[in-house]
Formats: sequence, C-alpha cells, structure tokens
Amino acid sequence: MFILTSFDKIEKYNEEKYLKFAIHFPPKHLREQIPVTPFIPGHNGLIIKSEDFMDRPREYRGELIKIYKAKKEKILQWLHELPKDKHVVLFCHCNKEKKENQISKYGYMLCHSGVVGQIILKLFPAVRIELDEDRKQYLHLSLHPSYDPIKCNKCALGGIEKCGEWEDYCYGPYEIKEDGGIYTIREKTKE
Ligand SMILES: [Zn+2]
Repeated sequence: MFILTSFDKIEKYNEEKYLKFAIHFPPKHLREQIPVTPFIPGHNGLIIKSEDFMDRPREYRGELIKIYKAKKEKILQWLHELPKDKHVVLFCHCNKEKKENQISKYGYMLCHSGVVGQIILKLFPAVRIELDEDRKQYLHLSLHPSYDPIKCNKCALGGIEKCGEWEDYCYGPYEIKEDGGIYTIREKTKE
C-alpha cells in the first residue's frame, strides 16, 4: 500500500511497517531521515509549483505528467526496488493549512501527490493507494489517484449523483465550473 500525506503528519508513521519517502524536498529537520524519490515535481533543475496553477488544475496535471514521463525509467527503477512487505508513505508539504488560500478561493487544493498516485497506479494497477484526510476532502478530482478522464464523464454529465466508478473517490454531488473542471460540492452538502 502507498499512503499520500504531508510532512507534518510524519509521527503517525513511526512503526516498522512503514517506509518513508519524500516526493518534495523535505523540511530541514527531516532531511537526514527521509530519502527523496524521483517524484520530485521537476526535471533538469526546473520545479513545478502548484501555486502557479491556482485555477488551472488540468494544466498543472499536464505539466506534471510531462515531467514524470521524462523520468519514467528512474521512477520504474525506484518502484521495483521497494520491498513488497512494507507500506510506503509518500510525503509532500501540502495540507489544508498550507493550501488555505486556494481552498477558500476555489474549493480545492492542487498537490502533485495525487498525480504521483496516478502514475503509480498506471504502472502497478493492483496497488492500493490511500489519501490522508486533507487530500480526501480537498484534492482536486482530476488529481485523485483513481482519476480517469473517461470514467468520470458520467459524473460530469449527470452532475448530481455519484456513479460509483471511482469507488472511494466517487462521492458527488459535483458541479462543473467555467473552466470545465468538475468540482465536488461535498462541503456544502455535509450535515
Ligand atoms: Zn503537495
């Protein structure tokens, strides 16, 4: 299993069964403890920042995919070397607090961790990927690990009920905004 979460949740994963890795450059105090993976959102010295894509989740995803395609061999090698009997925890900086501005403005957060999940699932479809609470609640749907632009058409067109094809992540209702993105309106409907 892979778990996507943020550096500030690191204490939750102290047990033996967890292997910890950074998918973004770790904060200073963790630099010695957490090895960095090829999932750093950059290539050849150029790092993609989610802040530059505030209301453009699709372009953000596109740029990340380009980068990971370029690093495919490294990624594959890294994945193949992982011990199979451990849970792999992947850490990024993003959480609800850090993305407060984006969440209050747009209702979602952008974080490359979701696309990392998409890449892992594409390479190893049988793998299980879990999101922490902030990601479950706020990660933009097109960045969810199980996002599939074909399958989600049903939700996009219906816009009212979940279709169930995304399993864990298919919880509507959704609304379609001007940028063509599909956004959950879970917050508004929560009792
Ligand atoms: Zn992030």
